[in-house]
Amino acid sequence: MAWRIKERLRSQLARERGAIARDWGGRASVVLLYPNAYRVGMGNLAVHSVYAALNASDSIACERAFLPDRLAMHEHMASRTPVLSMESQRPLRDFDVIAITASFENDYLNIIPMLSMSRIPHRRADRTDDHPLIIAGGAAPTLNPLPLSAIADVVFAGEFEAAASDMMRIIESRAPKGEAAAALSKIQGAVTGEGSGAVKRMHAEDIDSFKTQTVIHSRDAEFGDMHLIEVQRGCPRGCRFCATPVIYGPTRMRSAASVMAMFEEGLAHRKRMGLVGADILSHPDFETIARAMLGRDATFSPSSVRVDAIDDGKASLLHEAGHRSIALGIEAGSERLRRTLGKGLADARILEAVSTLARSGIAKQKLYFMIGLPDEGDDDVAAIARLAALVRDEIRRAAPRTHRTTAVDITVTPFVPKPGTPFAQRKFAGEQALKRKVKQLRRALAKESGIVMRTDSAVDAAIESLIAMGDSTTVEFLEEANRLGSARAALRAD
Ligand code: SF4
Repeated sequence: MAWRIKERLRSQLARERGAIARDWGGRASVVLLYPNAYRVGMGNLAVHSVYAALNASDSIACERAFLPDRLAMHEHMASRTPVLSMESQRPLRDFDVIAITASFENDYLNIIPMLSMSRIPHRRADRTDDHPLIIAGGAAPTLNPLPLSAIADVVFAGEFEAAASDMMRIIESRAPKGEAAAALSKIQGAVTGEGSGAVKRMHAEDIDSFKTQTVIHSRDAEFGDMHLIEVQRGCPRGCRFCATPVIYGPTRMRSAASVMAMFEEGLAHRKRMGLVGADILSHPDFETIARAMLGRDATFSPSSVRVDAIDDGKASLLHEAGHRSIALGIEAGSERLRRTLGKGLADARILEAVSTLARSGIAKQKLYFMIGLPDEGDDDVAAIARLAALVRDEIRRAAPRTHRTTAVDITVTPFVPKPGTPFAQRKFAGEQALKRKVKQLRRALAKESGIVMRTDSAVDAAIESLIAMGDSTTVEFLEEANRLGSARAALRAD
């Protein structure tokens, strides 16, 4: 079965463009471990950035490893095959360094299984000098490095690019593990052991001084039909629940020249550009960039659009770029609650934006809301259904020909308090309360046509809240979850 696993990795590698498979001779070997599926990891620009930066050094061979999919996992278990890297299909244990990059807290649940399949003790204290050095970073550890502090030798909070050259010098030296860990722990943003949680993060002042774009193109990846380009970092809005300004603040915009340089490189691979950032339409050169891309027969897709940045000109550019639907973060149903969140959008502004989009030919709207917010009452939940119906009616008014097909998709996500945000100390609503609110919303929407609701799992949100606000003892929760997961897998196998 091990050969089948290797064969699958090789064929996935063959479908990629841009991967680097190097001979290890004399080089420091690093495996970039993304604790989720290949498809998800390869849709994440952090993986591309770190991979490109490490492989830019001729003294480093950087490979990738992902969580095996369900079928592959079954084969791994049956044949006791460890997790293997993509490029050379070597076990994680063979590498000098395992670099975990994690964007979402719930992906931590996959770290212990991946290490234990690789016969690497997951607790730092149980590993010896013969095991690889394990470092961790990414958006979730930046927000709170402590939950991984009992697992990784060093956890980094902040932006990799700010300390990349220092880190790489240490990795390239191939110093004994203890020495390397001690040197890495002196870098700003490093947390070792228990840590205090109060850490000065690594921060890259000038994002124009490096590129952040897709370096490996694969149709198997999320957004695989696009060339992803980072356009901005952070968000100036400062909504009180949101982790983005905390992780990436202060906001930085790339220059149009830097975006266009990456566009030129991307054109060799894709005609569609994924513009990554929290508020793409507010980039001062958005219209220039968009027109330049359209003028070269390419299209673009912003990762995120803010309601109050939409006007006629931008809406028609989005339409020209092929958009027929747009996702908008509304967050709360009532104006009162939106004010509390720091979102401050009036219903009238939302309807105006929706109408502008519909008149431009973008008549499908996806609205994102949260439930379980601090100070949320039943009226606020009811207001979600009311606003969704108003949006539907507004689209029908603005684009009457779409009347029969008008669809408003709403996604309802539980609020999860995140450290460092103004709402960090507010309580997670709890599974039962969330389920009750979803039920209330379903009842209210049952009589409405043209509105489809999707909800995120309350259980996943409960896990996320526990890990997000965790500390060095969170490893015990991850171990328990791993035991339960293994028991479930064993029962299924029976
Ligand atoms: S919710 Fe959106 S607009 Fe508000 S701070 Fe976060 S990314 Fe910015």
